[in-house]
Amino acid sequence: MDECVFCKIIKGELPTSKVYEDDEFVAFGDINPKAPVHVLVVPKIHIEVNQLTEAVAGKWLMTSGVVAKNLGISQAYQLKIHVGKGAGQEVDHVHMHVLGGWREEV
Ligand code: AMP
Repeated sequence: MDECVFCKIIKGELPTSKVYEDDEFVAFGDINPKAPVHVLVVPKIHIEVNQLTEAVAGKWLMTSGVVAKNLGISQAYQLKIHVGKGAGQEVDHVHMHVLGGWREEV
């Protein structure tokens, strides 16, 4: 079975544009961005949605907010999780999409 693409990124086996890293999470640019800023916040251990714990989910959410703040988009951003192929999920390793950077409209 092919190894998970995000595990390869985390191990440094694939190139990426890393924007954040701590002991438990990494964030890097989405290869096919859907917004001016589009990064993925990913736990370093390979877990899938049905394996999430409250502790990991809580840190993952808070870390996603820190990443948005570090990227200067904390005034307006989206956090998205695709669950299931029918919802567009391509990669099983859990990942939070952080999208933002649109022109201010108000
Ligand atoms: P999802 O549809 O929620 O599973 O999202 C998977 C995301 O991973 C998509 O937005 C892809 O563009 C992105 N992606 C796939 N391979 C890579 C890669 N090597 N580097 C960065 N992003 C990737």
